[in-house]
Amino acid sequence: MTTTILSGAELARQIRASVSTDAAALGSMSDIHPRLAVVVATDDESSAWYVRSIAKTAARSGLLCDIVEPGAAGILGELESLSADPTVHGIILQTPLPAGARFEELAAAISPEKDVDGANPLSLGRLTAGLPAHPPATAAAVMALLDHYEIPLAGRRVVVVGRSNVVGKPVAHLLLARDATVTICHSRTADLAQCTRSADVLVAAVGRPGLITAEHVNPHAVVIDVGTNPTADGGLVGDVDQEAVSGRAAALTPVPGGVGPVTTALLLRHTINAATPP
Ligand code: NAP
Repeated sequence: MTTTILSGAELARQIRASVSTDAAALGSMSDIHPRLAVVVATDDESSAWYVRSIAKTAARSGLLCDIVEPGAAGILGELESLSADPTVHGIILQTPLPAGARFEELAAAISPEKDVDGANPLSLGRLTAGLPAHPPATAAAVMALLDHYEIPLAGRRVVVVGRSNVVGKPVAHLLLARDATVTICHSRTADLAQCTRSADVLVAAVGRPGLITAEHVNPHAVVIDVGTNPTADGGLVGDVDQEAVSGRAAALTPVPGGVGPVTTALLLRHTINAATPP
């Protein structure tokens, strides 16, 4: 079987183009200059690389982007002050956090209107309840890729591996809202392969390189690889053993170049949406 590669490059380009147009229009017509603040609290190298790539993409798309490094003790105060600052439209709290810090507790300080990566537990609650909220950009990117490639969801079996508040749970709720029949697997799931083989659409969001192999995949399945795992030689691999699953699945997102670029583009899209007056 030939596996179709679901690249995120073209979709990300389209989103960035619409972001640029809207950023320029906000500036010229309303004197609003969309600004994203990324709060970074550790010196983790792969996270620093990701933050630099957000800042570069933001600048190219006509958004202002501040990287703020408040230090462990200053995170909460910084999130509160950015939330109150009318010139800031979007706020991201970057992980990893310093030891002892709890992501959900800190993220609760992000104003829901500026919570462009759906980190505040209020945003997840609203999403779950079907109320307007910014979804986490990665969860939104999974949905955008599925839509871009016209993968049907209603009535189909979707298995999400991973149940974090930032990826697994929100993506499961977004899929449920589209009438998919959703199963969530996690580290305590008995016989993961048996469960994932039932999927028409399989979303892997774990953080374990090569966890998903051919035995986990139904031959007609569409596989979305959310995992981003740094390799010793400075590269990036997903949660799916791409070599084993290519030729087995009907379609597969690459890593890098699948969910990642769409996620970054959607962070900017959410910031534009937050900056746009009602
Ligand atoms: P996380 O908070 O560590 O959650 C990982 C989830 O995987 C947990 O629910 C865990 O189960 C489950 N898990 C761990 N080992 C498992 C196993 N052997 N079998 C089945 N499930 C297992 O990670 P995350 O923040 O959700 O991120 C997941 C991955 O996505 C990471 O690689 C991350 O780098 C990547 N990511 C990518 C993007 C992007 O833009 N492409 C953005 C965000 C994250 P328990 O709950 O039982 O512990």
